[in-house]
Amino acid sequence: MRKVIHTRFAPSPTGELHLGGAWTALASWTLARSTGGRFTVRMEDLDGPRTIVGAAAQILDDLRWLGLDWDEGPDVGGPHAPYVQSARSEHYERALATLREAQLLYRCDCSRAEIARIASAPHEGEAAYPGLCRDRDPRRTMKRPPAWRVRVGDRVVSFVDELRGPQTEDLQVEAGDFVLKRGDGLYAYQLAVVVDDAAMAISQVVRGDDLLASTARQIFLYETLSLPVPRFLHVPLVISPEGERLAKRNSMVTISGIRKAGVDASAVIGKLAHGLGLRTSDAPVAASELIGDAIPWRWPTQPWRAPTAW
Ligand code: GLU
Repeated sequence: MRKVIHTRFAPSPTGELHLGGAWTALASWTLARSTGGRFTVRMEDLDGPRTIVGAAAQILDDLRWLGLDWDEGPDVGGPHAPYVQSARSEHYERALATLREAQLLYRCDCSRAEIARIASAPHEGEAAYPGLCRDRDPRRTMKRPPAWRVRVGDRVVSFVDELRGPQTEDLQVEAGDFVLKRGDGLYAYQLAVVVDDAAMAISQVVRGDDLLASTARQIFLYETLSLPVPRFLHVPLVISPEGERLAKRNSMVTISGIRKAGVDASAVIGKLAHGLGLRTSDAPVAASELIGDAIPWRWPTQPWRAPTAW
């Protein structure tokens, strides 16, 4: 018997749902719904200071307006509740305890400046942690509330992304021992996403390809915690009509802005579905009409430019 596909959408309520979020949500939802699978929504509100009051409810409302529905989520509950990360600390602590018992965690009181001075960034973006605290005496007086890092050793992670094909990453070179819990007590995204996707029995992660570079770290955690590794499908991002990163200050890239402008949800779904290769035409269509008949599934390989008009 073929295993049921279980996908999810995991927005961070740090702002309004924008077209990029709607695009990955639609991809993930369609994949589940067209195969008789399950779809879960999880709020990733770990970053308390960046969380905006009311954003979570607005995101759910915008998703419903688009015509999406979910089997499990913050408002509908489900067998793996709660679906809000800020209420799941005990799960993250349990995973940390497992890793700590296996001697795989250590405290790190390096400042960002210290790390930047020693480390050289392999690409643009954050530098790999050069292991400064790895062998320091754990009983030393800490210079600041320490973070917990995981030892990656010499692991080279290989996986096949369903869209981007084979990927290989040398964790020591690309990431170094990475943070699982910050000095200020916040759990790292990398830890929480793995613990939750495993606990919620997600079989297929569908998300934007800005997170492709996080996947090797996550696979390392799944394997180290003896959790089943899901499949991964990273979709290209949505860019502005001018070809730049989506700027949230442009109201026509947020779903609520588009709603307020009087655009119909079917117009948005029609264009997103066309961009995602789910339809050959970009004519208005309800999300529910996408599933059922044979989907052409010509996934895009390039970023999709948001339209200037709906
Ligand atoms: N919460 C993350 C975001 O909004 C997505 C995490 C994921 O899909 O793995 O960017």
